[in-house]
Amino acid sequence: MNKNNLSEADSHCSHSIAPAKVVRGERAWEESHQLIASICRSPLLLGRSKATAVLRQGLLSNLKSLGLNTVSAELKHDCCEMDLNRINCLALYNSCDGVVAAGGGKVLDAGKLLAHRLGIPCITVPLSASTCAGWTALANIYSPTGAFQRDEVLARCPQLMIFDHGLVRQAPPRTLASGIADAIAKWYEASVSSGSSNDGLIQQAVQMARVLRDQLLIDGPEALRDPNSLAWIKVAEACALTAGLIGGIGGSRCRTVAAHAVHNGLTQLEACHEMLHGEKVGYGILVQLRLEEIIGSNQLAAQARRQLLQFLRKLDLPVSLDDLGLSKVSLIELKEVCRFACQADSDLHHLPFAISPSSLLEALVAADKDEQLIVESKDT
Ligand SMILES: [Zn+2]
Repeated sequence: MNKNNLSEADSHCSHSIAPAKVVRGERAWEESHQLIASICRSPLLLGRSKATAVLRQGLLSNLKSLGLNTVSAELKHDCCEMDLNRINCLALYNSCDGVVAAGGGKVLDAGKLLAHRLGIPCITVPLSASTCAGWTALANIYSPTGAFQRDEVLARCPQLMIFDHGLVRQAPPRTLASGIADAIAKWYEASVSSGSSNDGLIQQAVQMARVLRDQLLIDGPEALRDPNSLAWIKVAEACALTAGLIGGIGGSRCRTVAAHAVHNGLTQLEACHEMLHGEKVGYGILVQLRLEEIIGSNQLAAQARRQLLQFLRKLDLPVSLDDLGLSKVSLIELKEVCRFACQADSDLHHLPFAISPSSLLEALVAADKDEQLIVESKDT
């Protein structure tokens, strides 16, 4: 073992691997009632969108009928400090002793952050499979207008995660497609950031990401076609659970790379705020592969990009700036995306070669042009 290998194997790592308990299945919510009551007596039920209001009303009456002194609150924006501060006060005023976060990634992140800051347990109830936020000990913080600001590492994963298939199945199919793009990014990013790691646990996390990718490639299209299929269960759990587990086992050294950095850059533009997290991440993977190909001179990346492009298209996911709602984007705005994505502490710099905002801009434009060329050649 040389000195470098030794220092990697020898350095200390701390991992938040998984929620203390995960309950999953068709009626997981109902089956968790007693568990919830054993964790907290005065929960704060947190949610956001109008689309899930009726579902959350049902959860609220369930919690109340358990004899729990439940307060409900809604985010007005994304997971942002303004909302967090307001709801933090509400939770303190009502002496809440737990947070039940029911919704998509932004709600789950906000619930985990609130619980972390208040020092009380968090219970996550994903209402879609759009991210693995119900699992992880991480939260992304946005501005009130939806621009990514930073992520925060939390003390631990949730105390309880309830992945109720019946609830998740009611989410729009677009959320599952977005979850697939976010989960498949694990392979493209982990293999770059940690593919040559000598740490056994990290190597195993990278291999799990490869198996996850293969499963999504095989079962993804059927899962989207038929929410009552076995493929749907496998894919929804792959996106919401396995992707989180890979992050937990891989730890902070098994990082996100350019795909998420490009996502973070894109959130700076008002015009693509309507697009879901995974929809932007999926496009970010295409840009990352383009960078690996043109700057890293990796010919396999070109092949991987063509394969991924077809797959994303099959799932109706955005593969161009146009698809992302950025058909009228100006060069100045694209430069802002690249400046943000290339900040000194950006995960983009986990690529094995140096990237400047101008080389990223080149890759963004090239990935987009070349996407159009493929579309044109298919059409004619
Ligand atoms: Zn993500």
